[in-house]
Amino acid sequence: MAEQITNDFIAQFNSLSNSGMLEKNKELQHENRQLHRLIDDSAALLLITSADSMFEFISTRFLDYFLPQFMAFLIQPPRENSILQYCYRNIGRVSDRIDDSNYKTLHRYYAEGNTDNDFEKIKEKMGIESFTQDFLDIHPLMIFPLKGIGGIYGFSIFSDKLTGNAYTRAEIDYITHMFSVLSVMIQNDMHYKTSITDPKTGLYTYDYFINKLEETTAIVRRYKHTAGLLMIDIDLFKKFNDTWGHLAGDKVLITIASAMSAVLRKEDCLCRFGGEEFAIVIPETDSVGLTSLAERLRQTVSSSEVNVNGTRLSVTISLGACLISYSEKAEPRVLIDRADKALYFAKTSGRNCAALFPDGLLRRAAIHRGISEIEILAPLTTKEVQHG
Ligand code: GH3
Ligand code: MG
Ligand code: MG
Repeated sequence: MAEQITNDFIAQFNSLSNSGMLEKNKELQHENRQLHRLIDDSAALLLITSADSMFEFISTRFLDYFLPQFMAFLIQPPRENSILQYCYRNIGRVSDRIDDSNYKTLHRYYAEGNTDNDFEKIKEKMGIESFTQDFLDIHPLMIFPLKGIGGIYGFSIFSDKLTGNAYTRAEIDYITHMFSVLSVMIQNDMHYKTSITDPKTGLYTYDYFINKLEETTAIVRRYKHTAGLLMIDIDLFKKFNDTWGHLAGDKVLITIASAMSAVLRKEDCLCRFGGEEFAIVIPETDSVGLTSLAERLRQTVSSSEVNVNGTRLSVTISLGACLISYSEKAEPRVLIDRADKALYFAKTSGRNCAALFPDGLLRRAAIHRGISEIEILAPLTTKEVQHG
């Protein structure tokens, strides 16, 4: 009886094997594992928030699974001319740089509507002379474009595997699918950055600043801290533009934005409030800290120069400051209004100086005694405003 069952079983096994079903079953199991891997890896990728960590994650996976001799990501973030490069050779990150002209050729290839991933076909279409020798020397095998709403903004380049084996269909599918997820993630990250910064100066936008101010006032109340707000306006900038032109004016905006950023701490939020007006939220400071920061910014700007057709020019700024104090519970728009009043006072006091809106008791005493709400903080300087 037992022998009969064993024989039946062997016969069934042989018939399944001969029909190719067992082989098919194995293939399906393998495919199933690949799909699970894809789902797990995509889910893990969705939890990562910085572009650098996304590349690190995806490159670790690719290096683990495929062992390419060379792999690179070339990315061109919006508003930037330079191309970011992440290159890996023999499974380690290397500082190699691929000539930017290769990026441009690949971009042209895909912008023309071509879809091939096989580098041989790309080379055939674009001509070998369209690629630099150092690029050809890495023996690119497959290229995958990163596509977003604004079109293609990056590529991944894979060379041969270290094992010499070809990439299987399932592996190419895995790479393509992971790239669809990566494209959206990177794009979200880049769009977030461009949506909160001003294209001319790279500083935070007005909307971001208002959020930061609201957040800071809430934290100040909760932890009983004090923080500071500065409103800044370039002196006589209209005259500067009229004399030297708007492009020179733009150069000034860019120069002083970066000069002021260099003075600030990472947690301070400097924004372009309007045309030639800036605002800064300083999360933790008191009137002494705020005063000395205002003076440092004033000096930094007045000593920054731009070169316009061989002429070195500089501008000055006026600053209005106000403290954000937990005892007062002032709304953001009230704080902006106070800093604005201080700024107006600095302007009418001769410009190139800062004024502080007196807070708390000092302000109440001043109002009570019928004197000005504003006190001058930094002394007027003697440096001439060079507006021609
Ligand atoms: P004040 O000292 O009283 O602030 O004088 P001002 O001339 O700076 O003030 P006003 O508000 O009359 O002029 C501001 C000028 O800022 C006018 C405008 O042309 C210039 N401006 C605003 N945004 C930009 C910009 O993006 N680029 C350039 N070049 N100029 C700008
Ligand atoms: Mg102004
Ligand atoms: Mg001005």
